[in-house]
Amino acid sequence: MSDELIKLAEGLASATRDAQKVLGHICEHSGCGKVAGWGFARPRMESHWFCFEHRADGDRYL
Ligand SMILES: [Zn+2]
Repeated sequence: MSDELIKLAEGLASATRDAQKVLGHICEHSGCGKVAGWGFARPRMESHWFCFEHRADGDRYL
């Protein structure tokens, strides 16, 4: 199982590296690391970013 997690992490890192340069945000969900297209922020507060799959996580910041 640990081997699978390592492979997954490496795949995500290489897949998101280029996208991160362009978009500047990756999903904050623990262990996700996908490109985050959904941003959540309140006025004068730090913004939080999540991918499509985890965008519901951002509701807590609204
Ligand atoms: Zn995510």
